[in-house]
Parts: sequence; C-alpha cells; structure tokens
Amino acid sequence: MALRQQMVDEQIVARGIHDASVLAAMRTVPRHLFVDAAHADQAYTDKPIPIGLGQTISQPYIVASMSERLSLNPTDRVLEIGTGSGYQTAILAELVFAVFSIEILPTLLLEAQHRLTRLGYQNVETQLSDGAVGWPKQAPFDAIMVTAAPREVPPALLSQLADGGRLIAPVGHPAQQNQRLVFMRREGDTFTRTELYAVRFVPLRGGADKPDLNA
Ligand code: SAH
Repeated sequence: MALRQQMVDEQIVARGIHDASVLAAMRTVPRHLFVDAAHADQAYTDKPIPIGLGQTISQPYIVASMSERLSLNPTDRVLEIGTGSGYQTAILAELVFAVFSIEILPTLLLEAQHRLTRLGYQNVETQLSDGAVGWPKQAPFDAIMVTAAPREVPPALLSQLADGGRLIAPVGHPAQQNQRLVFMRREGDTFTRTELYAVRFVPLRGGADKPDLNA
C-alpha cells in the first residue's frame, strides 16, 4: 500500500499526470497481484515486468499516461486490445462503465480473468481473439486502447470508434526502438492523428503481422 502510494507520487504525479480519477485508480489497483510471485517485489518499480510467454505488464507511468490521454468518462464503453496480466484492464474498469478486453494468448487470458474476478470487477468482458479485428458486436466504443504494437493502426479499430471517440496505440516496427504512441480522435468521418512520445511495446500478433504468430 505504501509502495503503491510512493509509485504514484514519484513515478506518475512527478511526471505530470494530474487526472484525479486516473491517479485514484493507480492508487487503488493492487499491481502486485497482477505479476507472479517471483516478480512481486518489483511490482511497484518504474519498469515493465515479464508476465510469461514473452509478454510484459507495462511500466506504471505508461499505463497512467495512456489512460489519461483517452479523457475517459464514467459512462464510457472502452475496448482494450491485449489483456495481458489484466492490470491495465483493471485500471480502465475503475474509470469507465464497461471494458471489453481482447487477448490472443489463452493462458494469459485465463490468468487475467481469474485475477479480475477475484478482485470483483463486474464491468469487464473478455474475449480470446485477434484484437486487430476489434469486437464488432460491441462497437461502437468511446475509447480504444491498444497495448501491443501494430505496424499501423488497424482500420477495423478506427471503424469501431464512436463519433467523438479516442484511440491510443503504440505503432511501429516490432522489437524496434522506433515505436511511437499514436493518439487518434474521430469526429464524424474525420480522424485526426497526433504522434506522442517514443515507446517500446511487444508486437501485435496475427492479422496483418500473421507470420509473428509462429515466431
Ligand atoms: N495491458 C497489458 C499489457 C499487455 S502486453 C497489461 O497491463 O498487462 C501485450 C498483450 O497483447 C500480450 O498479452 C499479448 O499476448 C497481447 N496480444 C498480442 N497480439 C494480440 C492480438 N492480435 N490480439 C489480442 N491480443 C494480442
């Protein structure tokens, strides 16, 4: 608990995140329950942590920054691509009405589902599928957060954004240093795109990057 408050103060507030609801969510969600026992002592450190199968739970600051950027409202329905540990899912679940989260690796999804259920999140639905296709049955979404990097924002996701909807995604070549967070907003049929800071995420598998599925 003390470690979590320190994480928020030193890594997140100190770097300029001030959305009160995002800070409250980061102070609430027990990050140590989203990593395995071997990494529990690192849960509140300033870095990503391995969660198995070559995947990682993002650095706390990145989770907070991406969440803040989406300007989430309590009534929003949000799509997340890349459930992973379920940590970002839980943060979103604290902030909005409903979270729809897609994961492509069954083992990770199962573990994340257990954690989210045990912590009592009832506004989360998950699906095992290729997130590049989105979740057409539940569209449109007020916001979409992608937590694995495609080479370009998948068109299906843009088409599933509501009018006024926001999307944030790391975009770039897999495993390269040149990924960038991309923020997009839809107004009618117009999409505006803003490039934010450089990041390093695991690649989005499947779909356009199909060969990576067997990598
Ligand atoms: N948000 C996560 C971080 C996940 S790392 C967390 O807080 O822990 C990225 C995740 O995206 C991995 O779990 C990976 O398996 C998943 N992923 C990769 N390609 C995907 C795809 N095409 N569809 C859905 N999930 C995908």
